[in-house]
Amino acid sequence: MTSIQAFLETLHERYQPLSDGTVAQYIPELAKVDPDRFAISIVTVDGQRFQVGDSQPFTIQSISKVFTYGLALADHGRDRLLKKVGVEPTGDPFNSLIRLDEASKRPDNPMVNAGAIATTSLLKGNDPTERLNRLLEMFRQYVDREVHVDISTFMSERVSGHRNRAIAHLMRNFNMIDEHIEETLDLYYQQCSLLVTCEDLAMMAATLANQGRQPLSGVQVVSPDHIRDILSVMYTCGMYNFAGEWAYRVGIPAKSGVSGGIMAVVPNQAGIAVFSPRLDKNGNSVRGLKVFEELSRTYGFHLFDLSMGRCRFSQALKASEK
Ligand code: GLN
Repeated sequence: MTSIQAFLETLHERYQPLSDGTVAQYIPELAKVDPDRFAISIVTVDGQRFQVGDSQPFTIQSISKVFTYGLALADHGRDRLLKKVGVEPTGDPFNSLIRLDEASKRPDNPMVNAGAIATTSLLKGNDPTERLNRLLEMFRQYVDREVHVDISTFMSERVSGHRNRAIAHLMRNFNMIDEHIEETLDLYYQQCSLLVTCEDLAMMAATLANQGRQPLSGVQVVSPDHIRDILSVMYTCGMYNFAGEWAYRVGIPAKSGVSGGIMAVVPNQAGIAVFSPRLDKNGNSVRGLKVFEELSRTYGFHLFDLSMGRCRFSQALKASEK
């Protein structure tokens, strides 16, 4: 069996020429990215790392929603959070304006902008600085190094984010978020503008795969009690209006972002990330989808593949050690 590293290199070479899709344009700073950037990373739950391609940082964008949701769960617990943000997939684009539940006024789920803004508004802290510092500290623990916000992207989102502002005001109208709308939006844009590498994303996913314990530092970043909730919403809502198709084809919890990252969790085995900025019409990385389909097929990652498929990754890991 080929080693994992060799397989990642093959996939990188195979899909580098694929230039379908377009880089996100609606945030001016994102439109400037080199569309040919491409990286693939796998980190196992015991900290083994495989990486190919671009090792430079990019902004995390919507993938941050997964981790903010984890922090809000820690701050408020499942029941209280459920009163404010639902867990129902939308089938609508991520920045949809109209989706607040008729009766409860809740946004559908924490992976779309409305739900993510509501989640961010619930984070504890006495003032904006304390809330930002809590978020940064959480991300620092996930990646096991210092993290930074890209100020240009933050400013760019802030000046162009009329749609998110409209969503926030609509939620304020229904009393779903408090009156500190601009502060909440700033924090939301700051979390989206966090700089990560592809390997960082794989490491963060590996932490989730490892029941919340960071594979290198051993720090329990998120309680094992909340892993189930986080992975469930990733599985059903993480890939925009492609979530059902993704669940069918790839079959593992994942989250996508407009900068071109896709991060996925193989429970108890590994975290995987792909970065490539050209997006399809749903907003998912074109090369990312291809790479994940192949990885899932080759290593038998699909959660409902009840054949012996699942063992293929451990066999590949053994072969990689030799
Ligand atoms: N910052 C982006 C926004 O709110 C995040 C969107 C995304 O990655 N899907 O529009």
